[in-house]
Amino acid sequence: KQEGRNTYRLFRADMHRQDRGRLELETALRNTAETGEGLGVHYQPLFDRDSGEVHGAEALLRWHHPTLGHVSPGDFIPLAERSGLILPLGERLMHLVAAQQRDWLDAGLAPPRVAVNLSARQFWQSDLVAQVRELYAAYDLPAGQIGFELTESILLDKQQEAIHTLQALRDLGCRIAIDDFGTGYSSLSYLQDLPVTTLKIDRSFIQKLGESRGSSAIVAAVTGLAKELGLRVVAEGVETDEQLQALSRYHVNLIQGFLTGRPADAATFAERYLVRDGA
Ligand code: C2E
Ligand code: CA
Ligand code: CA
Ligand code: CA
Repeated sequence: KQEGRNTYRLFRADMHRQDRGRLELETALRNTAETGEGLGVHYQPLFDRDSGEVHGAEALLRWHHPTLGHVSPGDFIPLAERSGLILPLGERLMHLVAAQQRDWLDAGLAPPRVAVNLSARQFWQSDLVAQVRELYAAYDLPAGQIGFELTESILLDKQQEAIHTLQALRDLGCRIAIDDFGTGYSSLSYLQDLPVTTLKIDRSFIQKLGESRGSSAIVAAVTGLAKELGLRVVAEGVETDEQLQALSRYHVNLIQGFLTGRPADAATFAERYLVRDGA
């Protein structure tokens, strides 16, 4: 019995430690959401497969905390989504991205369009479209300069309302990509009704290409469907020449991954990929 109680207490102590860790992280994230300190953006290029040109970039949130150090989005994004902090964080991100675009334009550079990830809570904000419209106005950005990526599960929820919001964003010229495509449970028929421009095939399928028949079948099906529907296809998470080679058989327009370009801070991204407007 004694032993049992010790075990129980150890277990409890361990639980407390985990809870405390989570709480600490959430408190830190809350402060960051309020002040914006330690938040940054990395940009990863998307290349046109055939021309080799930069077609766009994905904005990825980065968080550096003074004592916790660099916290991975894989750790803080889910927490931000659960706690609702994704709303203020997402708003900060959008302003950082818009300000960066403005800086690049003012410097006479020709930045490619940038895609921002939207989570469900962000997408379903009643004033999302108004926020985006104001962002474009405040930074005087060309139509469509900032677009969005969202996962299919968001779009399955309330389809008519989703279509309405997407169409309003399309009217602002925004590109809309469905992220992590293939990992959801959707029937594909809904795709024809959605005003989206792009499908991003999830990295898990790209990485198993050539190894697993299932992955190849899914890539074949998704790319075939996208072609029929006139949608662009991005292969994300391309890491090797073999994967790039294996993709050559399919209707894939765009390549994103460590092979062609890792996410980089704005200065590095500009140095590597941006050209003078008109040059
Ligand atoms: P995601 O939207 O699927 O973003 C792509 C992730 O894959 C990024 O990780 C990127 O660095 C990584 N990646 C790109 N190429 C490769 C590759 O060739 N190999 C491998 N192994 N990974 C590659 P990151 O930056 O850690 O972001 C993770 C996730 O966090 C994102 O997945 C996205 O769901 C979320 N996230 C990041 N920034 C934001 C944001 O601003 N808002 C929201 N709502 N979510 C975000
Ligand atoms: Ca994404
Ligand atoms: Ca993705
Ligand atoms: Ca993914």
